[in-house]
Amino acid sequence: MIDTLDTIVALSSPDGRAGRAIIRLSGPRAIDIVRGSFRPTGGDALPAQIHHSNNSSASSGAAASPAWHAVEGRWQLSDSAAVPVLLLVMPGPRSYTRQDVAELHLPGNPLLCRAVISQLVEAGARPAAPGEFTARAFLNGRLDLAQAEAVMAIINAAGERALTAAEHLLAGRLSARIEEIIDRVRLLLAEVELAIDFAHEEVPTVSGEAIRRRALEARDAIVELGRSATAVEATGSNLRVVLVGRPNVGKSSLFNALAGGDGQRAIVSDIPGTTRDELRATIDMGDVRLVLSDTAGLEEAAATIESSASAERLRQAGQGRTAEALARAELVLMVVESPRLAADSAAAEDVASLSANLAAPLVLVVNKADESCHGASAAETAERAVRAINRAVASSGDCAAPAVPVVVTSARTGQGLDDLRQAMREALGGGRVDRAADAVSVSARHRRCLDDAAAALWRAARASGHAGGGISDGAADDGAGQAGWSHLPVELVALELREALDALGEITGRTSPQAVLEEIFGRFCIGK
Ligand code: GDP
Repeated sequence: MIDTLDTIVALSSPDGRAGRAIIRLSGPRAIDIVRGSFRPTGGDALPAQIHHSNNSSASSGAAASPAWHAVEGRWQLSDSAAVPVLLLVMPGPRSYTRQDVAELHLPGNPLLCRAVISQLVEAGARPAAPGEFTARAFLNGRLDLAQAEAVMAIINAAGERALTAAEHLLAGRLSARIEEIIDRVRLLLAEVELAIDFAHEEVPTVSGEAIRRRALEARDAIVELGRSATAVEATGSNLRVVLVGRPNVGKSSLFNALAGGDGQRAIVSDIPGTTRDELRATIDMGDVRLVLSDTAGLEEAAATIESSASAERLRQAGQGRTAEALARAELVLMVVESPRLAADSAAAEDVASLSANLAAPLVLVVNKADESCHGASAAETAERAVRAINRAVASSGDCAAPAVPVVVTSARTGQGLDDLRQAMREALGGGRVDRAADAVSVSARHRRCLDDAAAALWRAARASGHAGGGISDGAADDGAGQAGWSHLPVELVALELREALDALGEITGRTSPQAVLEEIFGRFCIGK
């Protein structure tokens, strides 16, 4: 349990020798504890009202006073020894943590800092745990969870792309878009619950078809958001591109063909599932440099994702690495086989639902275009495969379903590889950081939540209509009326909508379980 009632202290600058170091305190006794050893110099004194500030003083009076006070003085290390310090006092609730915060700026000597922290602990402060200041900012409503993570992302940013993405996250744009979608899904859930409550009465309720359409619209909005977002974990100028697909579709062969001589060579094998470890190659494409990785295949994931699709379940199924790679990718190349898609429309539907619920930028690669099936030529087979996939993609989404570029290749003959490189370049937008005012960025954790929410909405749509085989007898119209609900597992629709709301709420921290919070804040360093 994260405690917020006591007063915490930590060194919040790097531990080492420097011109200045900063020791930070937060909590109801922060200012009192500092007063014990702080002696103001000159005419400065701690203004009297600071002494009376407390966490509940969000009154208009507090708004009129300055948000912080700086007082020069000396810090008494003992009766006879003192060092010059600058004390910054930030009374709650306008401080970072919304509690009273005090910062001591003192000469940057590690021994000195340790001695001062010991004094502060003796006077009643508790050494802070990692991320505890930011955890308090979150728990006191100063930041939502995505913004709190942005603080860490800014501290850790290793390049311009990552820094810009983290700034977008801190600005709260992702949170605002998520809240909009949450409102839509919540309204939908309310209407479904009304239909459950009045199932046996002559009260007009929303039709199954209308629920299906609105669930898919919300799903599409989530997928679109994820696809247009910049990854917060962007590393320098290298963009992460991940190859995924069932075993044996030709991922390793494509990896080798794209990597040329530059990277490690992937192992190409006829035995499904041979690519055990993630292989990487750095590819220079002129305007963009990318790191291509061939992950362990989707194995059962492709078969189960359209029905279960939660990243959590993928991890449990031993697909952790693939789920993680998908969440962190700037671009996903989903590889499918031309002859299989041409011959099997269910396979095309599988791929379509898999891709439609994936909140990552995506290119669909129809590989093995040199192979033919059922007496058709290879070219006819590939055409059939593309038609099947386009048809399935169109029917798995709503009118606003995000378009997925489809490229036909043969890793064996080299056909289509230039088209694939071009599609990758376009999808990556030349590797530039989107600086538009409405640009959004997401972390890998957020992308996994988006995937989970998209998949839950897809399942809600399927349960309420005919998106995946028709549980309902299908109300064709859009209007009110009970037609179409009579044989529906309406409770199942409500359950899936709740699951989508939980996944979305985890992004901003509304519904994050304690363990998730502890895990996130535990990754911060002490003093942040
Ligand atoms: P992975 O399991 O998805 O990584 O697939 P591999 O790259 O190991 O390829 C599986 C098999 O398909 C190997 O025998 C490859 O030679 C073959 N293969 C890969 N790409 C093509 C292609 O474009 N055309 C044909 N005919 N075979 C291919």
